Amino acid sequence: MESYDKLLERAYAGLPEKAKTHDNRFEIPKLDIIQQSSKTIIRNFIQACEKIRREPQYVAKYLSRELAVPTTISNNTLILFGKFNDKIINSKFERYVKKYVICPECGKPDTKIIEQDKVKILVCEACGARTPIR
Ligand SMILES: [Zn+2]
Repeated sequence: MESYDKLLERAYAGLPEKAKTHDNRFEIPKLDIIQQSSKTIIRNFIQACEKIRREPQYVAKYLSRELAVPTTISNNTLILFGKFNDKIINSKFERYVKKYVICPECGKPDTKIIEQDKVKILVCEACGARTPIR
């Protein structure tokens, strides 16, 4: 007679790929962007940062550096002092999330950044992986 474990294993192996993951796949939040004269405004900036669990100041700094313009956080928005289309900003934001938020081991966004010996490390709370950020 087959053990219960074996049966389970077989049942599990037969499941389609999708059913194996317990959580819904994490989706990178889409930024809601408008242009106003020479400025670009991200209207859902704070909410988007909350979703990825990162300090808005850090995300703002990254965008500021990547796009080479000053930025300022005002209410729930981020104002960029330059004209950019939403594709560019969303792709920069996605890059940030892929680099600084999503665990490369398990693909989950449940991470935090710690600093150890001046090296930033992405620590995953889901799988425990520690990935140095370069
Ligand atoms: Zn992980």
